[in-house]
Amino acid sequence: MIRRVASSDALRVRFWGIRGSTCASGPQFVEFGSHTPCIEVRCGERLFILDAGTGLSAFGSELGASAPDKIDILLSHLHLDHISGLPFFKPALLAKERVIRTYCGNLDGESAMEPLNRIFAPPLFPVRLGQLPARFEHHGFKAGEPLILDDGARIETHLLNHPGGATGFRISHRGRSVCYISDVEHSDAWPDPGLKHFVRDADLMIFDGMFSDAEYSYCRGWGHSTWQKGVELAQSAGVKALAIFHLYPGHDDGFLKAAEAEMQVVMPTAFMARERQSFIFEPVEDNLDMNCSEPALAQAGGG
Ligand SMILES: [Zn+2]
Ligand SMILES: [Zn+2]
Repeated sequence: MIRRVASSDALRVRFWGIRGSTCASGPQFVEFGSHTPCIEVRCGERLFILDAGTGLSAFGSELGASAPDKIDILLSHLHLDHISGLPFFKPALLAKERVIRTYCGNLDGESAMEPLNRIFAPPLFPVRLGQLPARFEHHGFKAGEPLILDDGARIETHLLNHPGGATGFRISHRGRSVCYISDVEHSDAWPDPGLKHFVRDADLMIFDGMFSDAEYSYCRGWGHSTWQKGVELAQSAGVKALAIFHLYPGHDDGFLKAAEAEMQVVMPTAFMARERQSFIFEPVEDNLDMNCSEPALAQAGGG
């Protein structure tokens, strides 16, 4: 993989939290990381945040006062591991004129406002989101319908098989696309045709491979899939690179490295997501000739 500086109009992806269910901590979890789901996606300068797990606090610390005045957080669903970073997001604490918008697609069109106000309130939490300096706005949509934001940005969505439902997102920019497919449990007939169509030809698919096939019989019905099913889906859909995500907190660095090596025998561009790892996808639509010989995936550095 190549290290290089992104052009100003690249599609960029950075992982801030990669664990599922709960954090992992200790010397055996250093390489892959500890935080629960949060991903930074940049389309040129336009920022999208996928999920608001504990990784959101780490991202917020880096953004600080340089954060945009309007911030869009796309929530896959509202399980605690995907929202618990919200009140610790530094940009929400710094500026009164900032607007933080959440988008939630698995509540039949309802926004996340009522459930978030229930969780972030005494006695469960000392401070309400509404008491923070920034203003929160909560928007609902139906997973499966395109999500159109106020500046015209369009994001494709897909309803995922998970307890209570979850939303998969496909973000495209200048001929590149990244798909975020977490949390999801695979169907018996796999790959699922609708999901295969949704992720087809993506440059990067981020997939809930919390377990291995060997572990799955103990975890059936929990709403999560396996890295082997991620590879099957990616290969059948022509996905160029695969990041296995929502990593089980009991899987330490040694386990994940061994699983990654096993996976790369089958799909060399598949890998286990690592916290702070980032990727750059240069535009292809305007200068196809120049870029078609470039690798699809350029790793920008980070852990
Ligand atoms: Zn989760
Ligand atoms: Zn979940």
